[in-house]
Amino acid sequence: LTDSRAFSSAFRLLSSFLLPVAHFLHHRYEEMVQALFRVQSQCPYVTRIYSIGRSVEGRHLYVLEFSDYPGIHEPLEPEFKYVGNMHGNEVLGRELLLQLSEFLCEEYRRSNERITRLIHDTRIHIMPSMNPDGYEVAAKQGPDSNGYLTGRNNANGVDLNRNFPDLNTFMYYSGEISGPNHHIPLPDNWKSQVEPETLAVIQWISSYNFVLSANLHGGAVVANYPYDKSQDQRFRSHRRTVNTPTPDDKLFQKLAKTYSYAHSWMHRGWNCGDYFADGITNGASWYSLSKGMQDFNYLYTNCFEITLELSCNKFPPEEDLERQWMANREALVAFIEEVHQGIKGMVSDENNNGIAGAVISVQGISHDITSGDMGDYFRLLLPGTYTVTASAEGYQPQTVTTTVGPAAPSLVSQVERNAHCQWLQALCFGRHRAPHSSQRGTE
Ligand SMILES: [Zn+2]
Repeated sequence: LTDSRAFSSAFRLLSSFLLPVAHFLHHRYEEMVQALFRVQSQCPYVTRIYSIGRSVEGRHLYVLEFSDYPGIHEPLEPEFKYVGNMHGNEVLGRELLLQLSEFLCEEYRRSNERITRLIHDTRIHIMPSMNPDGYEVAAKQGPDSNGYLTGRNNANGVDLNRNFPDLNTFMYYSGEISGPNHHIPLPDNWKSQVEPETLAVIQWISSYNFVLSANLHGGAVVANYPYDKSQDQRFRSHRRTVNTPTPDDKLFQKLAKTYSYAHSWMHRGWNCGDYFADGITNGASWYSLSKGMQDFNYLYTNCFEITLELSCNKFPPEEDLERQWMANREALVAFIEEVHQGIKGMVSDENNNGIAGAVISVQGISHDITSGDMGDYFRLLLPGTYTVTASAEGYQPQTVTTTVGPAAPSLVSQVERNAHCQWLQALCFGRHRAPHSSQRGTE
């Protein structure tokens, strides 16, 4: 008996080295950090770990980055992010993002063509936990005895998804939903009004030019897209909720459907006693929410973010983790690939120097984005023909008409090939020179 027990523990030790992916366990903070560094050591040339700051109790908010040049923004290569466990007791996203990290690393090492292309063409940032303090509170209770709200908030008792500056109110101030909705300035005193975790995230998303992201939650199964906050909560008497679309509504619906239809059952709609057609919903039409992270991304940065509700049970038992990973794996990868659907290009002066902060507007969609530090811009768009104008102070605006190709097929080798053809490669400026096409030159 003793021998066989020793053998079995030796075997388990051995297999833990041989089969690093076969772990479907909940990870406490130390274990999560170890898991991230293990991935980093297994894929050192395409990963980097960095911390965006610390939680109230001093835990690091770690991000694992995948890129062929970790730590460097390559012009015309879009930045993508996943954020998990913002509510400390909603733990599936945290485990899925650890699984995803191991999966990307393993498949890259195996030269999987799809994953290799994805990592070469995309800079992927993965933050498994935005609320590591809340997680520890929830984890102490364990999966079975977990109260519905235990561990949701950060260590100061604040709900981080109600803690971002309220830019919607600024936008709705004019009484019109079509008010300014891009790069709305922060209120002067914003830093004193947010928690350390929120502050770290705002500084993070201000310093990278993210294009697309998702924020992983639990307690329902649905892909939720902006706006989360309805326009006027004062007059809602009988109806608590009202559909509150962004100017990019069709695009957001498509992004949400990309996830729900690649997920094993989200798209079916009936989950956790609720029904959502196609497994998606406008945030405010479900329930209105102020100061959330997803609206903030859209109103303050170039990033388009959706919120993924991934499980009825906020703290699923370990036995359920493998099934959940299999249900979400394709969706998690397919959603990253969506960052390549649209137009991108360089905004540069006559000496070919990139112009940062140039405004890119698309006729008919009242939401502008801006070029990044190197002058490159990314504008997610559905297939179609668009009139696009770039403008920057001291330069003549430039307008071009461009066509975004039809939805990419599911084979990734083709997705990538088509993606490059879909991008608009150049919007070049000449200082004080007349634009090549002048239909909107007076703007
Ligand atoms: Zn949540």
